[in-house]
Amino acid sequence: MAGIRERTYIMVKPDGVQRGLVGEIIARFEKRGFKLIAAKLVSPPKGQLEQHYADLSSKPFFPGLIKYMLSGPVFAMVWEGLDAVKTGRVMLGATNPLQSAAGTIRGDYALAVGRNICHGSDTVENAEKEISLWFPEGIVQYSLLQETMIFE
Ligand code: UDP
Ligand code: MG
Repeated sequence: MAGIRERTYIMVKPDGVQRGLVGEIIARFEKRGFKLIAAKLVSPPKGQLEQHYADLSSKPFFPGLIKYMLSGPVFAMVWEGLDAVKTGRVMLGATNPLQSAAGTIRGDYALAVGRNICHGSDTVENAEKEISLWFPEGIVQYSLLQETMIFE
């Protein structure tokens, strides 16, 4: 089936790690049927965060965003599955948690745009870039035995 190998980069931000939401966020992606193909707790250097958010470098909130992202370790993950990029964004909820639907991660666990606990790639192209940036060592290959129960 087309699209079942799509990959997205999902990251629990420092507030999500500190608030003990790593397991909850992993559980939601697992239960939805996505396959975990990379994961690590990491304290990235400032330059890596600036590169990750390079498209936002001219925004007034950029310095505060980088400071927030440097406030503690993040949990970096790659998830694979059908329409992973778009579906991952739906699972995260709107950027501003006040506008995130209940049932989404941000809609259930966050209130402020500057403390919105998680990141998800917004396009397939950006997902590929983010995966290379955060996992230069490469990612694990394995087959998910329950795949025929999740995809036709
Ligand atoms: N952000 C912020 N203030 C804003 C907009 C964004 O602090 O007005 C932060 C917020 O943490 C957001 C991140 O910058 O998640 C990246 O912004 P983007 O527009 O890419 O939102 P996302 O893709 O994370 O939903
Ligand atoms: Mg974004």
